[in-house]
Amino acid sequence: MERIGFIGLGIMGKPMAQNLVKAGYQLVVHDINRGAVEEVAAGGAAAAASSKEVAAQSDVVITMLPDSPDVEAVVFGPEGVAQGVRSGMLFVDMSTIAPATARKVYEALKQEGLESLDAPVSGGEVGAKEATLSIMVGGTEAAFQRAMPLFQVMGKNIVLTGGPGAGQVTKACNQIIVGLTIQAVAEALTLAKKAGVDPAKVRSALLGGFAQSRILELHGQRMIDHNFKPGFKIKLHRKDLAIALQTGREFAVPLMTTSQVAEMMNALIAAGNEELDHSALALVVEQLSGEK
Ligand code: NAD
Repeated sequence: MERIGFIGLGIMGKPMAQNLVKAGYQLVVHDINRGAVEEVAAGGAAAAASSKEVAAQSDVVITMLPDSPDVEAVVFGPEGVAQGVRSGMLFVDMSTIAPATARKVYEALKQEGLESLDAPVSGGEVGAKEATLSIMVGGTEAAFQRAMPLFQVMGKNIVLTGGPGAGQVTKACNQIIVGLTIQAVAEALTLAKKAGVDPAKVRSALLGGFAQSRILELHGQRMIDHNFKPGFKIKLHRKDLAIALQTGREFAVPLMTTSQVAEMMNALIAAGNEELDHSALALVVEQLSGEK
């Protein structure tokens, strides 16, 4: 079995790393949050003091970090992965970052003779814990096949969508659909409430028809309950729509509705709600509608 390095043990990374340990892989882990490292180490992983140390002991290095600058810092920074690479090492970034950054990392590691994959995920904390994540992968077929046994420990729907950066483009598409659908559900349920119709009954009625979706089902219920405990934080979704808009500019695709929803997220964050779940978009719609 390959020795696995795992960097970034947050909401997603911790359960993903724990699933690899449970599957019998030897793991060496690192995070700037030492509490998270100790927790995963208690389950049988080895703790490393830096990303460089992780790379020096691993055949495959996986990262699950917040954003593009974090991945660049962990790969290229002092005490970073690039300082400790071993020949034949495979680098797999599972964070959601800009496709342009993913391609930059791919090219830089290729110069060192290393393969890498961008492999962002969908499915949230529950999917990470239950190992049912969807994994959208960009890179070469050979690298994809090598990583497949690891992906199968963490997820279910695993698709190679193209070359370097294609996984991140796929994730941007995912985040557009999720963000705009949350906005649609928020508008529909707020309309129902203000028009004097019980939003819970509207949700139940719509779940049987063409408007049915996981977002209406799960986030519709959150909106009805006003339960906005994360889940997926609004600040991360705004980051993802910024990635989509940046990619839209790169390829000259006008993403009109995406930019409107990104501004709604800005309004939510301006009101001090950046740590809430993304379903809290309903709060902005309610406020604009004078709904308490
Ligand atoms: P998180 O903030 O909970 O975890 C990120 C972890 O990275 C933290 O533990 C942090 O300490 C660590 N970290 C940051 N910089 C570091 C560095 N330089 N060196 C070592 N460790 C460092 O975030 P998350 O919710 O786990 O999300 C991770 C990625 O997955 C993000 O790109 C996010 O957009 C994506 N994602 C999240 C979800 C979700 O539901 N939370 C779902 C799909 C995708």
